[in-house]
Amino acid sequence: MALQIHDTLAGKKRPFETVEPGKVRMYVCGVTPYARCHLGHARCYVAWDVIYRYLCYSGYAVTYVRNFTDVDDKIIKRANERGVEALALANEFIDTFYEDMDALGIARPQHEPRVSTTIPGIIALVEKLVGKELAYAVDGDVYYAVERFTGYGKLSKRSLEDMQAGARVEVDARKRHPMDFALWKSAKPGEPSWDSPWGKGRPGWHIECSAMSMEHLGETFDLHGGGRDLVFPHHENEIAQSEGATEQPYARYWSHNGFINIDAQKMSKSLGNVFDVADVLKRYEPQVLRYFLITGSNYRDPINFSDTMLDEAAARVAYYYETLRKAEAFLAEDLPAFEGPLPGIALIETLEPRFREAMDDDFSTVRAIVPVIEGFKLLNELIATRKAKKRAAAQAAARKLMAALRLVDQVLNVFGERPEAYLERHRAKAAARNDIDMAWVEARIADRVAARVGRDWAQADAIRDELLGRGVVLMDHADGTDWTIDDAMGLEKAPE
Ligand SMILES: [Zn+2]
Repeated sequence: MALQIHDTLAGKKRPFETVEPGKVRMYVCGVTPYARCHLGHARCYVAWDVIYRYLCYSGYAVTYVRNFTDVDDKIIKRANERGVEALALANEFIDTFYEDMDALGIARPQHEPRVSTTIPGIIALVEKLVGKELAYAVDGDVYYAVERFTGYGKLSKRSLEDMQAGARVEVDARKRHPMDFALWKSAKPGEPSWDSPWGKGRPGWHIECSAMSMEHLGETFDLHGGGRDLVFPHHENEIAQSEGATEQPYARYWSHNGFINIDAQKMSKSLGNVFDVADVLKRYEPQVLRYFLITGSNYRDPINFSDTMLDEAAARVAYYYETLRKAEAFLAEDLPAFEGPLPGIALIETLEPRFREAMDDDFSTVRAIVPVIEGFKLLNELIATRKAKKRAAAQAAARKLMAALRLVDQVLNVFGERPEAYLERHRAKAAARNDIDMAWVEARIADRVAARVGRDWAQADAIRDELLGRGVVLMDHADGTDWTIDDAMGLEKAPE
């Protein structure tokens, strides 16, 4: 089955047909950089990264645009509080945005336009709308005349009457209709401003996305994404601006990601449960947060964040890396070449097609991860094959299975790091989370070695149990003892 995407405009899943075959032009609304990224940003941009990666994986040449709203009330307010330039403040938080997003393995789009560098395009678009009498200027401000655009409300499925009833609309005698929105705002003291045909001022929020998408993707493009909270008014306004100006369809598909809840509650400043990505990444590896966000729910659905969920994700990702570490050693073993039926071949050969089928169904990552989980379980079984005769067959199967897992990780981007490097960092963070002193563990391991040298098996076992009681699992190898924190409890253990 070919790719189907849920389209908010159509209110259902539709087969994905792009303007130009083989090419996807997509736009996702970016951040207003006035603070560090919180988990809501991670949820949104990981979701869109997986979609972007999957479109590339499916063979499309994708042009991906994501903007920075670097001119905005919140930025100006914060900059004034701090006594710095608004654009300097925005730049500071664009840097921290990249820090967080790069850590989460989120690919950078090809174009990342900023409001501050798109002013001529924005002014030209506003002029066009004024020229078509879809907008009007009052005292240096320019408003969009919503009554002049017949399709207004088609995305959010609301009429102008509904919107007026539902919104807390302030009476503004200068507006022709209460829902008319600002395209251009006249300059106030202490704010960044630019010259325009209506005097000094700055753009309203919504116009930038119409101007930027048009500049980089043309009048009609394929996919427009963003958080569900943007459907109204932001995306509704984008449609009015773009289609009003060009008289062409704007985005062919509109997709919206769901929210993140914290411990089953809405994330909000008033509840004090807004967590910064950077704070979460002090306690967990970025792959853990990414894995949780990908597999905890499909992109359109809400996702429930909790420490328990992250612990489970941490265990799962550690198990993947532990398995890969052992699999790499297994593949390096010098075994005879094998010809014949491979163990587990049915799963190995269907892993990638099953992954693809789930992803083709509106990017169902929850289903797509199932064959991956099964694949790792099988990989452990193959590594555990003991009989010399069967081991060569298992090795050949493991090689094929690893290739399938590596392939789908082009989309997941979770387990591609060197296993040793990942596991070392994971262990340090798991120890810190569980309040375990790593030096103490090493000291007890040395005590156990001494006990074993002295053939005091009871003492050696007692130390092992003592460590296990703290969640520290020892793994004896020919060349020493390794250890990990057992938050992988309940997962299939790879044999030593
Ligand atoms: Zn936007």
